[in-house]
Parts: sequence; C-alpha cells; structure tokens
Amino acid sequence: MPRMTSRTLHVAVVGAGIVGAAIAWSLARRGARVTVFERADAPATGSTGRSAAGLRHQFSLRANVRFSRFGAERFGAFEREVGADAAFRRVGYLFLVPAGDEARWARDRAMQAEEGARVERWSLDELAHRAPYVAREGLAEGSFGPDDGVLDPHAATLGYLGAARALGAELRLGHAVVGLDARGGGWRVATAAGTLAVDRVVNASGPQAGAIAALAGTRLPVVASRRDVFVTAPIDGVPFPTPLVVDAATGVWWRSEGERLLLGRSNPAEPSGEREGMDWTWFEATLEAALPRFPFLERARLDRRASWWGWYEVTPDHLPAIGESVDAPGLWHAAGFSGHGVQHAPATGAAIADALLSGGDGGFDLTPFDPARFGRSSGGERPDEARVV
Ligand SMILES: Cc1cc2nc3c(=O)[nH]c(=O)nc-3n(C[C@H](O)[C@H](O)[C@H](O)COP(=O)(O)OP(=O)(O)OC[C@H]3O[C@@H](n4cnc5c(N)ncnc54)[C@H](O)[C@@H]3O)c2cc1C
Repeated sequence: MPRMTSRTLHVAVVGAGIVGAAIAWSLARRGARVTVFERADAPATGSTGRSAAGLRHQFSLRANVRFSRFGAERFGAFEREVGADAAFRRVGYLFLVPAGDEARWARDRAMQAEEGARVERWSLDELAHRAPYVAREGLAEGSFGPDDGVLDPHAATLGYLGAARALGAELRLGHAVVGLDARGGGWRVATAAGTLAVDRVVNASGPQAGAIAALAGTRLPVVASRRDVFVTAPIDGVPFPTPLVVDAATGVWWRSEGERLLLGRSNPAEPSGEREGMDWTWFEATLEAALPRFPFLERARLDRRASWWGWYEVTPDHLPAIGESVDAPGLWHAAGFSGHGVQHAPATGAAIADALLSGGDGGFDLTPFDPARFGRSSGGERPDEARVV
C-alpha cells in the first residue's frame, strides 16, 4: 500500500488497553490523526487491568530483550515524556535456575548484556544472603535483573491516552467495533453509532484480536487463556519490597505488594477461551508446587476478596503479532503478547508508529513477530522464547 505523510494519515486503533494507548500516543506525537475505539466504558478494563504488572529483561529471544529494554527506559522517563506517573519501581526480577540449566542461562545473559541489559548471576551463597526466603536444594544459581520491576498499567494507560488526546487524538469509549470493510485503499470502521472512514486500522484488542481480525475477513490465532493472581493477607518475615521471584523449574512466581504477596502459576491444563472467575482449586496446586522452594509460604493466608483473574492473550508460539495483515492490507495487528504486553507496550507503540508513518521498524527486530508466520506451514527456523511465565 502507498504510504502517506504523517499529516494526512488517519488511524483507527481498536482497543484502549495499554497497547492501544501506547500506539495512539506514539502516532499522535508524530502528527497522525488517531481515533481510538473501546467497547468498554473505561480504558484498561481488559487484560491490562488484570496484569501482574512486571517488566523484565530476562527473555531468551533477542527481539524480546530489546522490547523490554525500550520499555524500561520509557517507563523510567514516563513523567517527563508522557506527563503522568506510571509508578515504575525497579524492584528487580529474580529467576531461580535449576541445576543443569546454568549453561543456557549463561548464554542468555551474554545475549542480554549485548543488548545493554544488566543481569547478574547470583551464586548459591549470594542467594542465601540476598534471598534468604528461598530453599536452595536443586538450584544452580539465581539470575537477577536489577533494572526489572513493576509498574501501574492502569495509570500508564490513562497517561498515554491523556497525552494522546492533548495532541488531538479522539477516544470513543463505549464504542464496540462491529464491522471492518476495506474501501478505496482505506477502511470503514463500523460501530452501533455509525461508520468512520480511516486510512489504517490497528488491531490492539488484546484477547479479542482474533475476533477483530475475523471482522476484516482474515485470521489471527490469538486466544484468551485465564490466569489467576492469588493475593495473601499481610505476611510477616519477608523483607519488603521483594523482587518478583520466579522458580524456573515449576513456573511459580510471586512478588510483594505492600506487605502482601501476589502469587501465581500458569495452569498448563487451562483450556483456551474466555472462561471467567477464579479457579480456587488451582491455588492448592500452586501452593503445593511453591512450598518446597518457598517454605515461608506455609504462613501465608489467602485473601480471596483481593485475588483476581484475567486473560492472557496467547498465540501458538507465545510471541505477539506486530505488523500488517497479509491478506487484509492496511489492517495492522498489535496483539497476542502472551503475558508480556504491559512491558512491551512502549516498544510496540514506537514500532507501529514508525512502520505506519515512515515504513521503518523503529530500530527493533520485528521479524519474529510478523503476523505472516502463522500462515506458513511448519519447517525452517522458527524463533522461540524459552522464558514464558
Ligand atoms: C494475570 C495476568 C498477569 C499478567 N502479568 C503480566 C506482567 O507481569 N507483565 C506484562 O508485561 N504483562 C502481563 N500480563 C499480560 C498483559 O496484561 C497483557 O499482555 C496486556 O495487558 C495486553 O494489553 P492490550 O492492550 O493488548 O489488551 P487489553 O488490555 O485486553 O486491551 C484490549 C482492549 O480492546 C477492547 N476491545 C475488544 N474488542 C473490542 C471491540 N470489538 N471494539 C472495541 N474495543 C474492543 C477491550 O475491551 C480491551 O479494553 C498479564 C496478564 C494477566 C491476565
């Protein structure tokens, strides 16, 4: 499709989660006309509002590390650049590496360092000193990212949208997109309130991205998959704030929030689909997997009312789709972050804006995220991300 100048390009963004909000701001600050459609009456009510809100550099795929690095820098400078407080706190991520896996982790740390990410190897003695709440049996080491942390995704989304609106973007809340028709080199976006003609559409609809793709007559394999975040009552004897701790062998993760803990573990048997509500039976299974590594959790009391669930927006390879649809030109996808969309929203915004306004890639490697990969039959080298939590 011919590219347009930033002055004339009108982009419809479907979804006012953190990804749509980052894209709207990134486009608006470069001069594009932006209209954001959100079916809910408020922004950040989808996956964004249900996130555990972590940002880490410890990915095994270089493209993901670069996305995280950009995210950490942008969230660190959010107040100056966007004019709002994203509450980014660099509490760190501590991965517990099982014995036998240390060579892989060392390789990944070398690649992460090449990308400018600081990640430290902690020996078992250092682990005993710095994370005394961990039982070290069966571990090789700790892998700690001091520049990793947690933020407030709700505040970041509102910040992006507020700044985008100040630059002229329009936010249409309570406007579910129900139709997408290609017309005259652009698109007509239909809602119950009427249609709007735009030049490009960006599908940032999170777990519903497959449904939005279907409206345009194309396929995008993004599915919802429920995840639980169990919240404990205040607990003694843990040095607050803690890093976000991940036991790589079991996938159990936890972090402090005030004097409480948030605790979770992806359930491999969770069927895909928009299933709602907490799976309380999974709490027992999570605790059982967690206790040998974190014996202090024996003292944890579950606060059922504070716990929550949400949908990961999952692709078959746990990598997002970021790029133009092959068979629906002018429709761009930015979805399927598979549990990493909060931290990767700033990079996605910058990459999409650069692609739409200059035909560039924003300095990222978008090849592993190309939506066209889903249409290809298997074979050939496929990138893989080993650190999916
Ligand atoms: C329990 C849990 C823990 C997580 N932990 C982390 C973490 O630690 N770090 C991290 O980076 N990520 C984490 N994630 C993932 C992260 O929350 C998501 O990747 C991210 O929020 C995706 O943002 P989004 O804007 O793409 O989607 P969403 O926030 O879901 O936004 C999509 C929006 O599109 C709207 N929409 C849908 N259909 C339509 C339509 N037809 N018309 C108009 N609007 C529509 C929805 O209402 C929604 O507001 C976690 C997720 C969960 C559930």
